[in-house]
Amino acid sequence: MLIGIDDTDSPAGMCTTYLGAVFAGKLREEGYSVDSMTLARLNPNARYKTRGNAAVCIETNAGEKGFDLACSLVDELADLSCERTNPGVAMAESPLPSWFYTKAVTDFLTIEEAAEFLDENGAVYKGWKNGRGLIGAAAALSASFDDSTYELLAYRHHEEKGERIVDRGSIFLAEEKTYPHTWDSVDFGNNVVVCVPHTPDPVLYGIRGESPEWVKKAVSYIKSEEPFITALYRTNQGTDAHLLDARIADIKEDRSYRIRGNVSSSPSTGEGGHVSFLLSDEPGISVRCMAYEPTKEFRDVVRKLIPGDEVTVCGSFKGGSINLEKIEVISLAEKTFAKPPVCSCGKRMTSAGTGKGYKCRRCGEKSGEAEIVHIERELPLGWYEVPPVARRHLSKPLVRSRAKN
Ligand code: ATP
Repeated sequence: MLIGIDDTDSPAGMCTTYLGAVFAGKLREEGYSVDSMTLARLNPNARYKTRGNAAVCIETNAGEKGFDLACSLVDELADLSCERTNPGVAMAESPLPSWFYTKAVTDFLTIEEAAEFLDENGAVYKGWKNGRGLIGAAAALSASFDDSTYELLAYRHHEEKGERIVDRGSIFLAEEKTYPHTWDSVDFGNNVVVCVPHTPDPVLYGIRGESPEWVKKAVSYIKSEEPFITALYRTNQGTDAHLLDARIADIKEDRSYRIRGNVSSSPSTGEGGHVSFLLSDEPGISVRCMAYEPTKEFRDVVRKLIPGDEVTVCGSFKGGSINLEKIEVISLAEKTFAKPPVCSCGKRMTSAGTGKGYKCRRCGEKSGEAEIVHIERELPLGWYEVPPVARRHLSKPLVRSRAKN
């Protein structure tokens, strides 16, 4: 049996992955199997998400008992007093058709569509309040990952809200010992620990990596307060599952895209340090691409682009612009500037007036031709990404692609 759960947390606390961990612990205590634990991140632009838009699926042999246990844990742990917490639990014998998950990670679904999908496929389900969590619960039951990664999460008790005790040095050491097989525990460039949240939820830390062995190895270096519980999830994090290949003319708000085109305006730095430029993939059609201030040094790459450069951009289309997650520089336009030519007498000419060419102030010779100077571009071709501090859960870190090559 597969049991999908979503929408149990609120800005004040809780986390659906924690509920999944407690659920798995109780199943084992009662002698049932926990055959797999899946964490599916869904559309990062979903309107009602609390934090990372996560839904979980637990595979167990507990049948109806498992469903009842999951429901009683939702009653006990979900923050039902929060208007935006609308849990859903759904159970099916085998994975449901994957189109629903694909749509949930790249697009939008309604509560009615989720209920209809669950009905059509013979799933048992329960929704609390408006039942919005059934969308995520159904997506978890239909999750089929072309690519997957693992996250080992350590939790404190959900009632604890104080400062988390995790030794900073030990996390840097864990990353040093296991990178590139684990990633995003720290951001070396910005000297920041990334895997310990600052939100009031039960997550103590989460280590992301390519296999259960590597995340466990990383955790073996971490010194922290004793976790209340841990869980190892297979996930779609770090896989780019949210990206759709698209042409600019077809993109829609709150979906995420991979678009190939040409830079059509010089990058400019706006208020707050955000850097933006226009990308075009056919005459007269363009979209603004933004590298926001939190993307830190990534903005230096964006500032080096010039009109005519051919690039692939990845990111969500939000508020009328693509929020860049990464960019591939495919080819560079020539960067030149025109300066007055050198006269046959050896002196550099000067402008003879707007549209009048150049004139030598020494011998009076005239020329209509400027000297074109080629400027060396300081931007190697290839992919560039935002640093770990700014990475979204679903974005595939470049190191994952490199490790496979
Ligand atoms: P939690 O830890 O509780 O999972 P979260 O940040 O993942 O927190 P939720 O509180 O689960 O966010 O809220 C997300 C809500 O949006 C859920 O009710 C989920 O069913 C719904 N949802 C997820 N993806 C989509 C989508 N593609 N279209 C519409 N609704 C969605």
